Amino acid sequence: MEAKHKRLTSKAGLTIPKDVRMAAGFTGGMAVDIEETADGILIRKHRPTCCYCGAVEDVKSIKGRDTCRRCAEEIFKEVKTVYEFI
Ligand SMILES: [Zn+2]
Repeated sequence: MEAKHKRLTSKAGLTIPKDVRMAAGFTGGMAVDIEETADGILIRKHRPTCCYCGAVEDVKSIKGRDTCRRCAEEIFKEVKTVYEFI
C-alpha cells in the first residue's frame, strides 16, 4: 500500500485513513498497541501482555491485570501458602 500523508491534530491526534483501517481490520474504539521503532511508530491491534513476565500467550485479565497462565499458577500457589489455604 502506498504511503499516505496526514497532519496530526493540534493535540497530536491522528485519524487513520479509512482504506488503511479497513485493510488492517481496525475499527473505531478498539484497543491498539503503540510501539516506537527505528523507522517510526508502529500501531497494531492490542495483544494482551502479562504484566508480570511479558508473555503474550494464554493471557487473561485477573483483577484487572493481564496475567499469563504460568504467572497465574505461581500466584495461586503463593496465595495458598501465604494465606494457608488448603
Ligand atoms: Zn506471566
